[in-house]
Amino acid sequence: MAEAKKRTALDIIRSYDGPKIRIMEVCGTHTHEIFRQGIRQILPPQVDVISGPGCPVCVTPVGYIDQAIWLALEKGVTICTFGDLVRVPGSTMSLADARSQGGHVEIVYSPLDAYDYAKAHPDEDVVFLSVGFETTTPPSCLAVKQAVADGMTNFSLLTANKTMPMAYEAMKDSADAFLYPGHVDAVMGTRSGEAMLKEGVSGVVAGFTAKELLTAFAVILVKFPQGKPFFKNCYPRVVKAEGSPAAQALIKEVMEPCDSEWRGLGVIPQSGLQLRPAFAVCDARKKYGVPAMEGRANPACRCGDILQGKCTPPQCPLFGKVCTPEHPVGACMVSHEGACSAYYLYGGNLHE
Ligand code: SF4
Repeated sequence: MAEAKKRTALDIIRSYDGPKIRIMEVCGTHTHEIFRQGIRQILPPQVDVISGPGCPVCVTPVGYIDQAIWLALEKGVTICTFGDLVRVPGSTMSLADARSQGGHVEIVYSPLDAYDYAKAHPDEDVVFLSVGFETTTPPSCLAVKQAVADGMTNFSLLTANKTMPMAYEAMKDSADAFLYPGHVDAVMGTRSGEAMLKEGVSGVVAGFTAKELLTAFAVILVKFPQGKPFFKNCYPRVVKAEGSPAAQALIKEVMEPCDSEWRGLGVIPQSGLQLRPAFAVCDARKKYGVPAMEGRANPACRCGDILQGKCTPPQCPLFGKVCTPEHPVGACMVSHEGACSAYYLYGGNLHE
């Protein structure tokens, strides 16, 4: 008798006839790869994929942009930043607008580029806009350590670094299962997903190739109908249970947990990172007395709801009309990791 043909991940997904399920992906790269590789198009109608707060630029609040603009225009510092942040609207203007008003804004590709810029320009006060999750925090820590070791006094960070575990906690009732971000877990290991499992929250760690994403979806769709919470690392070639101890030690040495404001989610206790007192010389907030700024987003922009999975970009009245990648109204349309830019680029959710 011929051996029964093994079902592939694609077979499992296509033939899914289980209950309706909401899967939240919490990584800007996943948002785009799931679209780009056509995975949304093959999901059955009862499988809903929603975007969570996984795009670092998108979750950075408006008040932070206002603080960066204040530093550029009122304190005359040179702002070094990733390109995406330059176009994110603040309360009254973006950093691009501040630059056109005489603010000095330099685009860099890493915190160490900003450090190099500061070292090459000792007559300028340089502030790097340090945003992002556990993946982008270690290079910021490295740049600060290097600056302190060199005795530099013209380099500092405006920190808005965030960590994922408390965000998962805040979002745990928003989905039936999480697609955990592979590169965050490559640094931090699998303990946050395992901790969520103990609370009855399901999820899998996913990689980024088509095969890895299909496997992650297939595992969810096999396990979900069984009715028991589950956790599985579907990215074992990169994610180890312990993560990267060296990167974790670096973060711990230079930064400490703090409360942090997330766009759309408000302040989540202990979900951010700030420089430890030993590195205060590189803390732009202390160095320049940066005031707290509340920030006002365009009231019609629904980025906050999108980041909580409460609506999809096409449900925003401005999507594709007033708000486009060329003329973004909110952060989710600016960043190449944002959900609005993904929907705009790849054509929207086919199930809507
Ligand atoms: S489409 Fe534009 S205005 Fe609407 S939520 Fe997205 S970024 Fe905000």
